[in-house]
Amino acid sequence: NEEVNIISGALELKKKTASQVMTKIEDVFMIPNDSILDFETMSAILKKGYTRIPVYDGVRNNIVSLLFTKDLAFVDPEDNTPVRTLCEFYNHPINYVFEDETLDVLLEEFKKGRSHMAFVRYINTEGEGDPFYEIVGVVTLEDVIEEIIQSEIVDE
Ligand code: ADP
Repeated sequence: NEEVNIISGALELKKKTASQVMTKIEDVFMIPNDSILDFETMSAILKKGYTRIPVYDGVRNNIVSLLFTKDLAFVDPEDNTPVRTLCEFYNHPINYVFEDETLDVLLEEFKKGRSHMAFVRYINTEGEGDPFYEIVGVVTLEDVIEEIIQSEIVDE
């Protein structure tokens, strides 16, 4: 029955990892931090309908801030405000998790309520240079909740 399936879904959270449920970096809607909040850019953001938009500097896996769509509420497109200015003003915290972090741990983090989105990263040790963090996707509370619902559907 439903309760049993939700419990088994919850138990699955211990086995599944962030990278298994994340939205891959190439599929994430994000904007460069040098973009200007003119009518065109603001319309594009609003049209996508996401709550949170990662902001990158130069290359897409160099994420430097997080813009909330609601941050646009007081922005006048006529002012040509740089995204960077708005990000500095709101300064939303950025949270990271490792790609092999299990979903039960993620759920606990999200429950603490600092942010319901985390960037998924791993330590890249390939190549000649020093190891570096590489961001491979984003994961939100909804991705974790969906896992509970999905196992409910599959198990039925
Ligand atoms: P929203 O409130 O923006 O709909 P949710 O937290 O409810 O976001 O997540 C819904 C799904 O959208 C999740 O799979 C999440 O990984 C994905 N998602 C969230 N933000 C973005 C974004 N900026 N670009 C692409 N996918 C995103």
